[in-house]
Amino acid sequence: MALDSPAYRALRAELRDVWTAQQAPCWVCAQPIDYLAPAHDPEALDVDHVKPRSTHPHLELDRNNCRPSHVRCNRSRGNRPPRPAIGTVTEQW
Ligand SMILES: [Zn+2]
Repeated sequence: MALDSPAYRALRAELRDVWTAQQAPCWVCAQPIDYLAPAHDPEALDVDHVKPRSTHPHLELDRNNCRPSHVRCNRSRGNRPPRPAIGTVTEQW
């Protein structure tokens, strides 16, 4: 995954500017994001991919596939969809 590619960094910086101006809330939990928090703070902004990069690498640089989320929410969500599709078993541990 090319998370450190110049193209991805540029997109990330651009989205951060847009979302900071909008004070966009987290799309996972709908709570405000602390746009001034340090990068690895759990309340800081993270760019979440609606369709995970692991399964949709071609959408990594598609801004329509990006949503603002908390670092903690993005981490906890992983590659699962925000809501499980009806009829799928998601709690198999
Ligand atoms: Zn959140």
